[in-house]
Amino acid sequence: MNLVFLGPPGAGKGTQANLVTKQCGIPQISTGDILRSAVANQTPMGVKAKRYMDDGLLVPDDVVVGIVEERLSSDDCVVGFILDGFPRTVAQADALKVMLQGAGRSIEHVISFEVDHSVLLGRLTGRRMCRSCGRGFHVVFDPPAETGVCDGCGGELYQREDDREETIRRRLEVYDEQTAPLKSYYEAASLLRKIDALGTIESVQLAIQNIIASR
Ligand SMILES: [Zn+2]
Repeated sequence: MNLVFLGPPGAGKGTQANLVTKQCGIPQISTGDILRSAVANQTPMGVKAKRYMDDGLLVPDDVVVGIVEERLSSDDCVVGFILDGFPRTVAQADALKVMLQGAGRSIEHVISFEVDHSVLLGRLTGRRMCRSCGRGFHVVFDPPAETGVCDGCGGELYQREDDREETIRRRLEVYDEQTAPLKSYYEAASLLRKIDALGTIESVQLAIQNIIASR
C-alpha cells in the first residue's frame, strides 16, 4: 500500500500515520526526518544536501527527490509506505511518479486531510508552553488548573511566536497556495481522496481504513 498524506500543519496527519503504520506495518516517511537521517548517515544524497544546508540554502528539488528515492529503496518499504510532507510541488509529484514507475510501483491513494481554517486556528492558537519546564497545555483541550500557571512546576505559561494567530493564518495561506495545484494534479489522476480531518481520531481513522480497504 503506497500512500501520500496531504494536509496542513495541525490536521493530525502524524497521529493518523502512526495508526496506519501500526495497523498495516508500512513505514511513515516524513521528509524532515529522512533529510536529517541522510545527512547524519552521510548517504550520497545526504552529503549533497548538507552542502546546501551549511550555506543556509534550501535543499533543491532534485536532492530532496534523491533522498526520498534512497529511502523508498530500503527493505522496509517493500510492503509500502506513507509519504508525509512530500511531494510539495507538482514537479516533485512528477518526479515521484517517474521514480516509482522505474521500480514498477505507483501511488494508490493520496489522502487529503480537509480542515476548516477557523477550527484549525482555534486549535493551534490555544497552545501554551511553560517557560520553566517546557510542558505544553491547551486552553480548551488541556487547560491548566489555574489560568496561565503550569500544573507541574508553577511556572508562567506563554504562547510561542509560532502559535500566534497571524503566524498561523499566514502559514495556512501559504500551504493552500502551494497545495492547490498538487490537489488538482492528483484529482486529475483519480488518486485524490478527501477526508474530513476534524472528526475524532477514531472517525478519521475509520475514514482512512475505508479508503485503504476500497481497492
Ligand atoms: Zn512548568
